[in-house]
Amino acid sequence: MRPDIDLAYCKGCNICVYMCPKKCFSKGADISERGYFAAVVASPESCFNHGRTEKLICELCILSCPDQAVSWKPEAEEGEDVDKAG
Ligand code: SF4
Ligand code: SF4
Repeated sequence: MRPDIDLAYCKGCNICVYMCPKKCFSKGADISERGYFAAVVASPESCFNHGRTEKLICELCILSCPDQAVSWKPEAEEGEDVDKAG
């Protein structure tokens, strides 16, 4: 699983950026429709839950987001090409 940020809720406080022990999030450079520099999931492959589908661990990002903007997203449903490098 990978963390996902809902831009309809994120207010760019960057708590997730500072809380994540694996540095999965980074500060946003683009203004969302709500007018915030919403955080982005920059390194989902670094998450403790990368490749896990159950019994997720850590979850500091989800627990610490004051706007409940972070949720889990199945990696298989990212809609992007799977990195097959290596
Ligand atoms: S903690 Fe939540 S509201 Fe704050 S930047 Fe992260 S996702 Fe957005
Ligand atoms: S579960 Fe932990 S390691 Fe994974 S993105 Fe959230 S805070 Fe970071």
